[in-house]
Amino acid sequence: MADSDDSTVDPKIWVACLACYNGGSLHGRWFDVGTDPDDLHHEVMAFFAKGCETCGEYERECPECRAFAAPFRCGGEELAVHDHEGLGDVGEAYDLPRLCAIAALVDEFEDRPVLAYLARVDEDVERAREGLREHYAGRWDNLAEWAESWAEDAGLGTEQLWPYVDWERYARDLELSGDVETLDVGGAVHVFRR
Ligand SMILES: [Zn+2]
Ligand SMILES: [Zn+2]
Repeated sequence: MADSDDSTVDPKIWVACLACYNGGSLHGRWFDVGTDPDDLHHEVMAFFAKGCETCGEYERECPECRAFAAPFRCGGEELAVHDHEGLGDVGEAYDLPRLCAIAALVDEFEDRPVLAYLARVDEDVERAREGLREHYAGRWDNLAEWAESWAEDAGLGTEQLWPYVDWERYARDLELSGDVETLDVGGAVHVFRR
């Protein structure tokens, strides 16, 4: 199941061997996604790969083993991401540079909506980083609350905000406070201000 925008979950992927999957068996496991794709790839290969003839086992430091397409113990050689958490809607591609870049972004901006930004604003990680860094204006209960604070900070005067005042609500409050009394007579409102 694809996960939601919940970036509080540590990023991880379930990596599957495609040959086994197509043959109807489960060959794979969960891996934590850190920020280094090279590290992660070798952790994955240490699980799947048969290793080369020189070392007999898969060794991270062995140049022969480091070849990307080293065959697996089961004979398969292709990988897919069949489940994931904490990374947004990343699909099934075994694209570790992108997955690790997303994990790094989540790590960098813990309190900001990284996955939602990637999903709804810009899926490009570098542009998302810029947007999250340069344009984030904080978390608010609603946009009106932010707008009020922003107008205050920007020192906007009454005249600039005049067109946006909710006069009906203001009038109702004046009336309720007792500062103003009204008499409806002849289709008009007669106002008395104390
Ligand atoms: Zn397999
Ligand atoms: Zn080797």
